[in-house]
Amino acid sequence: MSEQHHVDVAARESLRLLGADPANWVAPTPGVDHDVAIVGGGQSGVTIAYALRRAGIGRVTVLEAAAGPATAGVWRTRARMTTLRTPKTRSGPELGNPALGFQAWYEGLHGREAWEAIGRIARTDWADYLDWYREQVGVAVRYRTKVVDVEPAGGLLRLHLDVAGRRHTEVVRKLVLATGVEGIGGPYLPPVFDGLPGRLHAHTGHDIDFAALRGKDVGILGAATSALDAAAVALESGAREVHVFSYRPELVIQQPGGNVPNPGAQDNFHLLPDEARWRQRWNQASKGSTSPLDTVLRAVAFPNLRLHFNAPWAAAREADGRVVVEAADGTHAFDFVIAGTGYRYDPRTRPELRRVAEHIALWRDVYEPAAALRSESLGAYPYLGKGYELTERVPGTAPELRHIHVFNAAAAQSFGRPVGDIPSLRTGVPRLVEAIGRDLFFADRERAKPAAPAAPQESFFERYAHAVWRPGVDATAPIG
Ligand SMILES: Cc1cc2nc3c(=O)[nH]c(=O)nc-3n(C[C@H](O)[C@H](O)[C@H](O)COP(=O)(O)OP(=O)(O)OC[C@H]3O[C@@H](n4cnc5c(N)ncnc54)[C@H](O)[C@@H]3O)c2cc1C
Repeated sequence: MSEQHHVDVAARESLRLLGADPANWVAPTPGVDHDVAIVGGGQSGVTIAYALRRAGIGRVTVLEAAAGPATAGVWRTRARMTTLRTPKTRSGPELGNPALGFQAWYEGLHGREAWEAIGRIARTDWADYLDWYREQVGVAVRYRTKVVDVEPAGGLLRLHLDVAGRRHTEVVRKLVLATGVEGIGGPYLPPVFDGLPGRLHAHTGHDIDFAALRGKDVGILGAATSALDAAAVALESGAREVHVFSYRPELVIQQPGGNVPNPGAQDNFHLLPDEARWRQRWNQASKGSTSPLDTVLRAVAFPNLRLHFNAPWAAAREADGRVVVEAADGTHAFDFVIAGTGYRYDPRTRPELRRVAEHIALWRDVYEPAAALRSESLGAYPYLGKGYELTERVPGTAPELRHIHVFNAAAAQSFGRPVGDIPSLRTGVPRLVEAIGRDLFFADRERAKPAAPAAPQESFFERYAHAVWRPGVDATAPIG
């Protein structure tokens, strides 16, 4: 029998031992198609759907814009590193069931020694593992189904869907936005890119045709991990020269054994006062995200990579089909430029949220930091409740917002960690599922009809009448 077969059998057996899924306890609501819709069929969406089912919440649908697993999420598209940044020992979608974990899958296929030999998980292995996980837990993802509009509908949410080019609507009680690193925002292009034609530039969060960069000069603004990954892929694809520009004096590299997150601090971050949350996030943002050393070494192995420090861009313009960049260290010309400038999470930039965006409380609406700690980008994050739900800027104006749960990178300002990332699933998914279950339960309880007259009850007295003590008849005298 094949190794794959053994892994499948072990996973199925673990699920059998967990016992059957509980029956769906959520009362059907007239006019509602799904109690919960999850936008995004990546690792978060699938794990959440599975966890909801295990919690007895059964009418759940997973909506995914991509055509299939090969293009959903980032792992086979916009993530360009060879290995994951997450250490191999951090648990992920298995939710405490080791037979569903990456290690079980990998050891089952390649053996224990192979597992011990790998430093980090290969990105493509992680993508293959997620395909396997989805199959084992039996979550169906509706591909080619894009949510284009979220309409509040009298306490419910009407989703306008584009299903392979056709429009229709479905009504749900709860919506989870498991939309990954794009969050409710997207790739951030600094103003210096304004006016450049689309064929001459891209963001690292976009699909990039690297083969077309063969023999070309490429300029990259930003020197964090995604920028360095893009530089490496461009060079591996035969770019003539790649120039990476940073406003910092050097690269920010992870210390060996450093940057180990404290799970207690991460799991409880959302319970801290706003002042402490803001300060921590502000400190993180000002330090910059660190790159693994192997990411740096992959790029600098090429003799035609050039790093420019203290070199922000002041302007960029098209000239003779190329891009001329005015950087702090001089003027440069490139055939193509790439922004490795991260993401911004302002819900007002998401077309599907246009009806509700104005009503969403952002951090800047709720918290005023000290002058030295001000930040436009941190202030634009949504201010979420403890169950990842959106909150209203003005109470009473958009009550449906509390039924939209943000389980993606835009939750980071409220939850202190990149939500949707592998390590966020262990505590994040159960917390989200508990919040959804609680909301559904209490809403059902409130609208429950008055109880119908009780049906006559069968008496079982005759079955135990012979055991009832009878004073004066039973031999045993009462004590005292
Ligand atoms: C370069 C790069 C490297 C990374 N490396 C790591 C790492 O090492 N470790 C780690 O833990 N994380 C890493 N991440 C973060 C990574 O994005 C997440 O861990 C992971 O992809 C999150 O999974 P997810 O299911 O939350 O979101 P995703 O996998 O991004 O899935 C979201 C899905 O939502 C779909 N979607 C979006 N909008 C709609 C809509 N309106 N309608 C329908 N579908 C929609 C998208 O098509 C997408 O498939 C990296 C990210 C990037 C970009």
